[in-house]
Amino acid sequence: MPTVLRAKCVVVGDSTSGKSSLCQVFHSDSSFFPKNYTMTTGVDMLVKQVNIPDTKDGVELYMYDSAGKELFAELVPKFWEHTSMVIVVYDATSETSFNSCEKWLRRVRQENPDVQMPGVLIANKIDLDQRRVISPKMGADFAASQGLKYFECSAKEMQGVDAPFYYLANEFYVLYREKMDLFKSLGMQ
Ligand code: GDP
Ligand code: MG
Repeated sequence: MPTVLRAKCVVVGDSTSGKSSLCQVFHSDSSFFPKNYTMTTGVDMLVKQVNIPDTKDGVELYMYDSAGKELFAELVPKFWEHTSMVIVVYDATSETSFNSCEKWLRRVRQENPDVQMPGVLIANKIDLDQRRVISPKMGADFAASQGLKYFECSAKEMQGVDAPFYYLANEFYVLYREKMDLFKSLGMQ
């Protein structure tokens, strides 16, 4: 019997860093980049299944995409509940958005203190090379210091968008297998 796991993935980062674009491009198999900018007003949820290589199993990702400001206003506390994994996004042309990453991450972890949570840091908008202010090294160093895996992408050019999602699904799956193995070794299954 194939196993399909469910995982709630919260996508955080400052407004306009590209969270909605990333989720939508990934969700639509890279065929869709929203051309008109619309500020997200509440919480959007997108679901997509990722198959785990060399197995019949899959992870269904429930991606929670939000608007930055509402979250800090505590308007949607449920947003944070039962989080399995986190995506922190910044705009590589915005120092402010990069500096906010730590605060976003702290918030997610604070709301889910007992969860072993795979996470990624995404530098988005790398197509705007001339305007880039956060170097790959700065991004990678910060990610390493926070126990996150670092990725770069351009939602606009549809480059590198899938990799972080696949990485998270796989990490989640590995954690699940480890737990199952532990239960078995303890004779609990
Ligand atoms: P959110 O507020 O974090 O959800 O950000 P959005 O996904 O709404 O994107 C904010 C703006 O940045 C929009 O005008 C997008 O078209 C634009 N944008 C998103 N990703 C990229 C990217 O990779 N490159 C460029 N150049 N623009 C992007
Ligand atoms: Mg948005």
